[in-house]
Order: sequence, then structure tokens, then C-alpha cells
Amino acid sequence: MFFLKTIFGKSKEEMADFLANHRRYSTMGTRSAAESYSNCCKIHSLGLRGAQLAKAQEVVQLENLQDLINRPIRRFTEETFGAYTVGFNGRMGGHMVLYSGEYYDPGYKSYCTGCGQRNYQAVPAGESAPCGVCTTPRTNYKVPPRFHRVHSNGIDHGMSRDDFLDLSQSQLKTKFDLVRRFDEVCDQVRNEFITLLDDFIVVEEQVMVPTMVKRLARI
Ligand SMILES: [Zn+2]
Repeated sequence: MFFLKTIFGKSKEEMADFLANHRRYSTMGTRSAAESYSNCCKIHSLGLRGAQLAKAQEVVQLENLQDLINRPIRRFTEETFGAYTVGFNGRMGGHMVLYSGEYYDPGYKSYCTGCGQRNYQAVPAGESAPCGVCTTPRTNYKVPPRFHRVHSNGIDHGMSRDDFLDLSQSQLKTKFDLVRRFDEVCDQVRNEFITLLDDFIVVEEQVMVPTMVKRLARI
């Protein structure tokens, strides 16, 4: 474990120390006052070895990097029923930050099977309705899509050790467990990133001259 540190006791004092001393970062722009729990994920702070570090410099430039490493975050968001998630904030996304959030229904009723375009109107039973983009007939959602949004207000912002100690044992334990789980998710994301470094090479290819794009290819 890299971010998740071993803690032997779980007294109120130890839990309060852990929460009060945890690294924190802004939930919005760097000048915003709201802060939440965070871990630094700049590549020089990830404990990478020589060859991994060189490759990491390349991999962090990939446009689809977050898609490749965010499975642990999706799992965390699901297990908290959308109440929490982890986002990347700071210049170059160098900080993983714990956010509160929620699932919501964006109101889409149907979608295009051809191009994936969503539509707010349901297709009436027995009728056919073309997609506005590509004219393929639309299909109604059996289960409406669920989107997730994050809240930019901080978590436990400005709370001191004494404030944590004023909480009940169970309130404190709930916070403690949440932030421990956050550290674990950060470890899992770091593992995904390292797996990426070990299993893939970055190839540059020319797509429709003259645009150079980077993508990942399995070795
Ligand atoms: Zn379409």
C-alpha cells in the first residue's frame, strides 16, 4: 500500500489525528477556499522506478488516460451510491481529491442505436422516430440512463482535531472509514497506472495528415 498507511489503533484520538493530518486540496480552482481530503499523484510522487518514470512522462500526455485508470473510482462511486467519488484536480491533475456527489436522471427517454445520440422524447408505442442526427430509428431506454455530478463544496473543510474529537464515536468512525477507503481507491488507481506502464507502449501514428495523436498499443 502506498497511500493507505497502516494504523494500529482506532481510538478517537487516533482517528481524529488521522483526519486532521490528512493531506488536503482544493475542490475547485486553486484559489477556492473549499477543500477536501486528497493524495498527491504527480508522477514524481508515485514511487516509480527509472524506466517506469520515463514512460510515465509519456503516458500522462494520453488523452484517454483517465478512462484507462478510473475503474476503481467508478466502483467507489457505485458502492457509495453516488454520494462520493474521486476527481483529479490541480495543474496537470496532480491531486486525487475526494468529492461528494450524487446520481441524477438527466431526463433522456430514448437513444439512437446508430450513433448513440440521446433524445428527451420517448418513441410512442408502435411508431418509429428517426434520430435527428443520422435518421436511424430511435429506441426507448428500458432503464433510463443515470448520470453523476460532483459537488464542489469541500468535505470537512476547516475542521480541527478538536472538532473531530467533538463528534460521537460512530460519526468519527464513519468519516475515518470513508477517508481510509479513499486512500485505498487512490492506491488502486496508482496500481492501474503502473500496470499501464508495464503492459503498454505509447505509439505515435499519423492520422489524416498532419495530426499526430498518441494511443496505447498492447506490447
Ligand atoms: Zn443517430
